Amino acid sequence: MTELLQNYLGGRWQTGTGAGSTLTDPVLGTPLVRIDASGLDLAEGFAFAREQGGKALRAMSYRERAAMLSAAVKVLQANRDVYFDISTANSGTVKNDSAVDVDGAIFTLGQYAKMGDTLGERHYLLDGELARLGKDPLFQSQHILTPTRGVALFINAFNFPAWGLWEKAAPALLSGVPVIVKPASATAWLTQRMVQDVVEAGVLPNGALSIICGNPDGLLDQLQPFDVVSFTGSASTAAKIRSHPAVVKHSVRVNIEADSINSALLLPDASPEAFDLLVKEVVREMTVKSGQKCTAIRRIFVPEALYDAAAAGISARLGRTTVGNPRSEGVRMGAVVSQSQLASIQEGLALLKTQAETLYDGAQQTLVDASPTACCIAPTLLGVRNADEATLVHDVEVFGLVATLIAYRDLEHALQGVRRGQGSLAVSLYGDDPAALASTAVELADSHGRVHVISPEVGALHTGHGNVMPQSLHGGPGRAGGGEELGGLRALNFYHRRSAVQASTNVLEKL
Ligand code: NAP
Repeated sequence: MTELLQNYLGGRWQTGTGAGSTLTDPVLGTPLVRIDASGLDLAEGFAFAREQGGKALRAMSYRERAAMLSAAVKVLQANRDVYFDISTANSGTVKNDSAVDVDGAIFTLGQYAKMGDTLGERHYLLDGELARLGKDPLFQSQHILTPTRGVALFINAFNFPAWGLWEKAAPALLSGVPVIVKPASATAWLTQRMVQDVVEAGVLPNGALSIICGNPDGLLDQLQPFDVVSFTGSASTAAKIRSHPAVVKHSVRVNIEADSINSALLLPDASPEAFDLLVKEVVREMTVKSGQKCTAIRRIFVPEALYDAAAAGISARLGRTTVGNPRSEGVRMGAVVSQSQLASIQEGLALLKTQAETLYDGAQQTLVDASPTACCIAPTLLGVRNADEATLVHDVEVFGLVATLIAYRDLEHALQGVRRGQGSLAVSLYGDDPAALASTAVELADSHGRVHVISPEVGALHTGHGNVMPQSLHGGPGRAGGGEELGGLRALNFYHRRSAVQASTNVLEKL
């Protein structure tokens, strides 16, 4: 029998009372650990977090909470090797891909520790300047931001068990708001282990961080007016959360990060250097974490005249990507996370193929050291020569290693095509002319959370199309969920309430 992971709720470790579900190695098929959240006293756990965790956190200043994040960083760094082992076993990732999750998490937490320190010894934040409300300047208004007195419930996706926790927990804890995380079941092990290490190190007040592994009945029923929910996952689950009776009844603030059909766009008249940068980035995005990144490039727009050259360039690089068992020497891309994800990728690929040609067929590639039952699959590049005839490519998100090349006639045609994604997390632009790149960035900004602009001068410096940096906004309008995360200290807004204090200038000066 495999180990049953414990939940941490109500300030103590607790096991579920049911049979639970087993997490498996997607490459070897072996059972790893079990999770179960049945029978937990959720009401008691939420109350403990709100009352004990929240109270202790709010008693600290921003600077003290920033120091607490630094202490958590040290704990995570000390256990980094264990996290890489869990990633390989549970997510089937090669070391570089595990690093995107594990080191990305530690880096993000560290950045928030630094940013938080600049907020000093305050317990709430001023927002904007004093505003006169009438002719007499004595009675004025000052907006302030105070930490919400509820819990932050995180419901996370399977693809970033480490980063997905800490990119949200960093701004929440820095704000003074206790966290309850429910990781996706398939990869809950890494999240649970990180929470266990940080809780046992005693660097956070009790109740500041709790974890529920599994999907317990009634989780969302616990929500109360000052709680917030941050969700990452599919649009269909997002819709259920948004319309949940407790969310609707208590006006619970909800942030959604959902599906996104992100694009890369090679501008007309781009130089061969810009073309090469696009090709390299597309291949990176298709293969890092087997393309299981919400920000990954799914659509590639190139001028008609360069369609064949782009197909050849991307295919040549894809052919050099060795795929298979992440433990084997020389393998650059490991598995997808589960049999169900593999099936979902194959289903989506078959659907896209009804309106696209296959330019590079991953099914023809030999896998390294992977049995026929391993969740390993090589990348596939599809192509649409006549963009006006294809609809599915803008609508079907294949969550992994598939992208589609699309030919465009002129820039206006390309912009129309990009916008058919109906709102995405990220678009990247490749070209040389600063004015053309800047105006295209502005054109696409309203439908994207992030516009990543690559010209040859930043070819070796840029942080990557799909890499989410804590300094920059993560989220996107429309189909992408309409959420906002990160973006430096802007992330704290979600965990604070804004109020206008109207009073005499003498009172306001004491704030
Ligand atoms: P999912 O099936 O929607 O699951 C996401 C989370 O919701 C999991 O923790 C899941 O728990 C939980 N959940 C499912 N049904 C629920 C319910 N009725 N009430 C409360 N929680 C519920 O999504 P996924 O398959 O894990 O993730 C893939 C999707 O996430 C892709 O579409 C991708 O685009 C999106 N994604 C977006 C971002 C972003 O930042 N925008 C990042 C990563 C992924 P269980 O696992 O226990 O079922």
